[in-house]
Amino acid sequence: SRIPRIVILGAGYGGIVTAIRLQKELNYNEADVTLVNKHDYHYITTHLHMPAAGTDNPENARVSILKLIDEFKIDFVKSTVVQIRPQEKKVILEEGTLSYDYLVIGLGGEPETFGIPGLKEYAMNIRSINSVRFIREHIEYQFAKFKREPSRTDYLTFVVGGAGFTGIEFVGELADRIPELCKEFDIDPSLVNIYNIEAAPTALPGFDPELVEYAMNVLKNKGVTFKIATAIKECTPEGVVLATGEEIKSATIIWTGGIRGNHMLEEAGFETMRGRIKVDDTLRIPGHENIYVLGDCSIVMSPEGRPYPPTAQISMQQAEVCAHNLVAQIRNSELQKFEYKPKGTVASLGRGEAIGIVGSRKIKGGVAAVMKKVIDLRYLYIIGGIPLVLKKGRF
Ligand code: FAD
Ligand code: NAD
Repeated sequence: SRIPRIVILGAGYGGIVTAIRLQKELNYNEADVTLVNKHDYHYITTHLHMPAAGTDNPENARVSILKLIDEFKIDFVKSTVVQIRPQEKKVILEEGTLSYDYLVIGLGGEPETFGIPGLKEYAMNIRSINSVRFIREHIEYQFAKFKREPSRTDYLTFVVGGAGFTGIEFVGELADRIPELCKEFDIDPSLVNIYNIEAAPTALPGFDPELVEYAMNVLKNKGVTFKIATAIKECTPEGVVLATGEEIKSATIIWTGGIRGNHMLEEAGFETMRGRIKVDDTLRIPGHENIYVLGDCSIVMSPEGRPYPPTAQISMQQAEVCAHNLVAQIRNSELQKFEYKPKGTVASLGRGEAIGIVGSRKIKGGVAAVMKKVIDLRYLYIIGGIPLVLKKGRF
């Protein structure tokens, strides 16, 4: 009989780890595996706040896909997926069409705009190598522009919308970067303003309040101004309008207000919640026993009935079960149930500072910053072994 075809969409945390596991577990000629990704590199999304602020090189946040997979076992196709057609078991790419017997969807998230007027047009997002290169250059350019028009303080005003983990990690880096830029451009640092604006009654809603307070103090001391319980209502070419009616004039708006699933999932006719698919306990779409969904495109419910936050951590755990289940399906053996085992959360606050919960322990400051580095290095080790740790690791 014909060799089954597995197609993996997206080489993010979910897709790349699935591919790496499949190439280990499948026997010769047991399946044809194709991995499709927009770029010929995998990006380490969890590092992107650094190159976005300019505190690290974008090169350190990406890895060539062909360095991670074995081309004798996996076909890599560099292309953009434009449509998923589950009825025909096909995916349409920008160049060509692929047929599959089994599909893995790991296309990641998209910025959630909540229909806020002007957000799409005037705000930037931290979501890919290209987007963070743009943000980095944009920020630097504002300093150059201010030198020509010193009355334009909006050039030196930076608004970050949303104080979730992405917003908090980014303002930590930005606050570290500002003094360097001020030195480079001969600008008085007191002219620069960084606002982190959060709609909820607290920054990092749902996280440990003591650690949230610690984080806010560290960031305030670095020059970040928080506006909590204050929603952004509109973005304009001049800046942002808050729910209070207040206007902040700013030439730089970075939106970190949350993510939703990839728009193609809705378009394919699947049932979605904020663009994400609630998968069954084997990680497949109910009613589609040959389609797996991972990472930011998927929803997994906790035993308390709440969706787990979309993270790299859960994506990678899902990928292992997904690879196992694909092999089991092909061999007609038993599928494994996915159970998320949260290991903790550690978030950086810029140079030498972080907060986190590891197991049931709260950590902060230098200890947490070291832990964050260990977690980052561990990921490089999982996907690329020691050579990748030495090449891309930050010690
Ligand atoms: P992604 O990693 O987003 O990958 C999606 C892939 O699909 C990409 O390679 C993309 O190029 C590709 N793609 C997208 N559209 C197409 C298309 N149409 N055609 C072809 N290819 C396409 N989580 C943690 O657990 N710990 C952290 O410390 C952490 N830090 C973070 C820091 C930042 C700044 C950000 C933004 C997020 C962070 N997260 C963290 C969250 C984590 O990065 C995401 O949950 C994770 O990346 C989701 O993985 P994924 O596999 O679903 O998708
Ligand atoms: P998020 O959804 O966690 O946070 C978005 C924040 O924006 C929320 O606090 C929300 O209240 C706020 N917001 C929404 N609308 C707003 C408005 N109109 N005005 C002002 N504020 C508004 O999104 P995120 O921070 O991008 O995180 C996405 C996922 O990635 C999460 O699951 C997170 O846990 C994960 N992540 C983890 C880490 C880490 O572990 N170190 C780092 C970054 C992201």
